[in-house]
Amino acid sequence: MTGAGRPAPGDGAPAAGYWVTPRTEVRRADRASYDRAVVRAILDEAPIVHVAFALDGTPFVVPMLHGRIDDRLYLHGLPAARLFRHLRAGPEVCVEATLLDGLVMARSSFHHSVNFRSVVVVGRARLVRDHAEKLAGLRAIVEHVVPGRWDDARRPSGPELRQTHVVAIPIEEASAKIRTGPPAEDPGDLGLPVWSGVIPIRTAFGEPSTEGAAGVAAAFPAYLAELLSGGRGAGA
Ligand SMILES: Cc1cc2nc3c(=O)[nH]c(=O)nc-3n(C[C@H](O)[C@H](O)[C@H](O)COP(=O)(O)OP(=O)(O)OC[C@H]3O[C@@H](n4cnc5c(N)ncnc54)[C@H](O)[C@@H]3O)c2cc1C
Repeated sequence: MTGAGRPAPGDGAPAAGYWVTPRTEVRRADRASYDRAVVRAILDEAPIVHVAFALDGTPFVVPMLHGRIDDRLYLHGLPAARLFRHLRAGPEVCVEATLLDGLVMARSSFHHSVNFRSVVVVGRARLVRDHAEKLAGLRAIVEHVVPGRWDDARRPSGPELRQTHVVAIPIEEASAKIRTGPPAEDPGDLGLPVWSGVIPIRTAFGEPSTEGAAGVAAAFPAYLAELLSGGRGAGA
C-alpha cells in the first residue's frame, strides 16, 4: 500500500522519504508528506510530543519531552512510572507532534480551519540499555528543549542515570500533514460582510526570572540569549 515511487517496507532503508503504510497513509494526499526532512523539521520544532499506548485494552495519551537523533526519537522518565514500566516491555506506540501556525477564518463556520504542521509516527519502543546511547538520548532531549544546555549543566551522575529510563522509537513509519494558506470560501459567501483571513500564531518566551532560585548567581549564558532572541530552539 504505497504511493507511486514511495519506498515501502521490504524495499530496504527508505532514502528521502518514509514508508507509506496503511497505518500512516494520509487520506488527503495534497496535505501529506513522507519526506524525511519535512518530518524531522516538525519533530525538531515541536516543544513536546504526545505518546499514545494501549494498556490492558485502554488507550492512553501522555505529553512528553523528546529528542531526536537521525531516525530515532528518544523519551525519558522514571522507571517507577506506569508509562515506563509499560514502555520498557517494547510495545508499539504512536507519537504525534503538532505545530499550530494560524487561525483560518472563513465567512462560513463550516470552512473555518487552522494552519498547522503535524507528524504521526508509529513504532515499537525500545528500552535503551547501552550507556553511550542512553547518554546520547538524554543529551538529545536536553538539547531539544534548550540548545547549548547540555554542555553547560552538570552531567547526570551514576545514581541519576539509574533513576532514569530512556526509550528509543524508530522513525520509519511516519507521516506529516500540513495545512497552509487562506480560508476556503463558498462562492455564494464571498459577498457576506464577515471578516475572513488568517491570524498567525507565534510562541514567545517570557522574561527570565531567578526569583526563588538557590545557589550562586551565574551570568545569563549566550545560548539562552540566543534562544530568547528566537535564533534557535523549540520556541523559535
Ligand atoms: C509538557 C509535558 C512534558 C512532560 N515530559 C515528560 C517526560 O519527558 N518524561 C516523563 O516521564 N514525563 C513527562 N511528563 C509527565 C507525563 O505526562 C506523565 O505524567 C508521566 O510520564 C507519568 O506517566 P504515568 O502514566 O506513569 O502516570 P500515572 O500517574 O501512573 O498515570 C495515571 C493517570 O494519571 C493521569 N495523568 C498522568 N499524566 C498526566 C498528565 N501529564 N496530565 C494529566 N493527567 C495525567 C492520567 O489519568 C493517567 O491515566 C510531561 C508532562 C508534560 C505536561
